[in-house]
Amino acid sequence: MDMSKVLDTIDTGILTFDREYKVRYWNGWMTSHSCFGPNEIIGRSLFDFYPNLKNNRFLRNCQSVLTFGNLAFFPFDPYAYLFPMKPTGLFKSEFKQMQQSCTIGPLRDEKNEIVSLYVSVRDMTEAASQQEKLIQLTQLDPLTGAYNRRSLTFFIKEELYRFKRYHRPFSVVMIDIDHFKNINDQHGHLFGDEVLKSVSLSMQNNMRKLNRLARYGGEEFCCILPETDLKGASALAEKFRNLIAGLTFTSKEGPVSITASFGVATVEEDMDSVEAVLKKPDDALYRAKTSGRNKMVIAA
Ligand code: GH3
Ligand code: MG
Ligand code: MG
Repeated sequence: MDMSKVLDTIDTGILTFDREYKVRYWNGWMTSHSCFGPNEIIGRSLFDFYPNLKNNRFLRNCQSVLTFGNLAFFPFDPYAYLFPMKPTGLFKSEFKQMQQSCTIGPLRDEKNEIVSLYVSVRDMTEAASQQEKLIQLTQLDPLTGAYNRRSLTFFIKEELYRFKRYHRPFSVVMIDIDHFKNINDQHGHLFGDEVLKSVSLSMQNNMRKLNRLARYGGEEFCCILPETDLKGASALAEKFRNLIAGLTFTSKEGPVSITASFGVATVEEDMDSVEAVLKKPDDALYRAKTSGRNKMVIAA
């Protein structure tokens, strides 16, 4: 039975290459998803066509399979692939590259010696897309793109654990837009929505990835800052304050500016719950509000 006929029609990429990384087999799936056919690629070095594969991780894994005969996995993990290929159909706009899950295994000769390797390539773009959607639905606030309240609770619990277990500090910045009701009243709710979106985006674009910005309620946000003391947190809050005060929105009535107030606190030994962690920055925010707004107050 000619297995290569079967391999040519399956919905998975299959290729083989020898110890010198010269391609020996290239199935139909690989041909239709890459720009190369078997006539071009067979007999040539894999790296002539995929120079990105000449990296430590790929080479190390291949050497291990060649030496020990194990399987090596390159699991699907959002934004992972071995062979740069265009995503197909529905996912063209979502991902620049097809997301892949790949396995490398050994091929032996009659003497049971490993003479070449095979790679199987599975298209995981649909799974990656569903995972992204699930994250958006369950973890993010749909209007502002910030994390939702449930995620905030999760992050605080995680940070509290790290603090209790490893004494890693973290800080919290509470943010509340000033007189936001007036914005809605004067320019309409939709305009207010656009303001909320922009405020959220400008904060997200001006902080480290490790910090987590969540929408705490209507026009209130809460930012969790891992590995950050009061000094670092108040610097970020002050940066946010200037950033928000510097935004200009265009309404039918003309340009509109807003301000926000900030409460900053850092974790302390006696804080044992999410509520306890949020109380101090919330009290500080209240003081920022009652002492004039467009202010940052550091918790006592
Ligand atoms: P303060 O300076 O004391 O914070 O005054 P404020 O007007 O911002 O505070 P208040 O709590 O009185 O009002 C909050 C407003 O935020 C009222 C509510 O309609 C508005 N709001 C809450 N969620 C949304 C939303 O998703 N979109 C819009 N456009 N407005 C919202
Ligand atoms: Mg407000
Ligand atoms: Mg409020």
